[in-house]
Amino acid sequence: MGKKKNLQEMLDNLSETELSNLESLISGMSNKSRNRKRGRGTRKKKKHAQPESANDPKSLEGLDLNSDELKEIQAASEFDKKMGFDKPKSNGIIPKAPTFQKVSVKCMVCGKASEVAPSLIPPEQSRFKCNACSCGSR
Ligand SMILES: [Zn+2]
Repeated sequence: MGKKKNLQEMLDNLSETELSNLESLISGMSNKSRNRKRGRGTRKKKKHAQPESANDPKSLEGLDLNSDELKEIQAASEFDKKMGFDKPKSNGIIPKAPTFQKVSVKCMVCGKASEVAPSLIPPEQSRFKCNACSCGSR
C-alpha cells in the first residue's frame, strides 16, 4: 500500500510542466491499451509471464549475508519507511526553553527584597538570605 503513497508524493514534487508531460504520457498509454483491447481480438495468455523473484526477500538467502547484515538491511528499509511517512510536518513544534518565574523574597538579614528562582527559596521563606548576606555573613 506504500506504492500509491510514494507515487502521490512524487507527483506532489513535480513541476507544472512535468505534470502536464506526465498527463499526456498517461493518457496516451491508456488510449493505446484501450485500442489494443478492442481491436484484433488476439488475446495473449500469460503463459510467458515469469514470476519476478528478483525482489523477493527470500532470494537474499542465496547471497552470503550473515544474520547481522540481514538485520541491517531490514533496519535500513524500516528506517526509510519511517522517514517517508513522517515528513517535516513537525518542524513547527519547537520545544520551549525552560522558563521559571522569579519570586521576590525578603532577606532575613538585610530585609532587602530580591528576585530569585523558586527553587532557591527555603521551605521557610522568612529564613531566606540574599546572595550578599549568605556570602558575607561568615
Ligand atoms: Zn541580605
